[in-house]
Amino acid sequence: MLKKKIYELFIGSNNKGKVREIKDLLPKNVKIYTTDNFKLSSPRETGKTFLDNSLIKSRYFSKKTGKICMADDSGLEIDILKKAPGIHSARWGGKKRDFNLAIKRVYKKLDLIDKQWKNKYIKARFVCAITIYGPGIKTIKALGKVEGRISPKKKGSNGFGYDPIFIPKNKKKTFGEMKLFQKYKIDHRYQAFKKIKKFL
Ligand code: IMP
Repeated sequence: MLKKKIYELFIGSNNKGKVREIKDLLPKNVKIYTTDNFKLSSPRETGKTFLDNSLIKSRYFSKKTGKICMADDSGLEIDILKKAPGIHSARWGGKKRDFNLAIKRVYKKLDLIDKQWKNKYIKARFVCAITIYGPGIKTIKALGKVEGRISPKKKGSNGFGYDPIFIPKNKKKTFGEMKLFQKYKIDHRYQAFKKIKKFL
């Protein structure tokens, strides 16, 4: 089947860390619009899964701008916390989306569940769902994951969110310690992007 290419895209996110990464992943021939061009707040994320929420966001931003819109919903799943913070990853940072607060909360929950957790392999993963929705196209969806573990110490100041406490599988450094281009080559957003590349 002939795939229709997309040459213009609105990135539906107010998270500057995410927008920077998505811009870097998109081919240079795609004209990009962001919330810097259209002042828009984000919709309420009422879905039960990452995919539900990425559809809610892309549909909302597309309706507001009239453009084809890409939105992602992503987060960190920690197995011994029953996959929390999961779809609530941003909300763990409180109203101000304070990532230090979110990380403190992760450590507190881990202390509560297992005092020895710092000596164990705390399995976790970042998950990213991407949806592209808009006029004249069939909705496109993809899911990407990167497996890893929680670092017993916060390390590095690159990236955003939970990057300083996530060590990808078979690596020693946290995402926060890696150079952005190194993180971008392996992370969950990249894994989801690989699946939708053919449309762009
Ligand atoms: P949302 O997708 O905008 O609801 O927010 C996802 C939240 O998950 C972010 O605010 C971060 O806290 C976290 N998150 C998602 N992707 C990453 C990442 O690549 N690094 C670190 N944290 C992330």
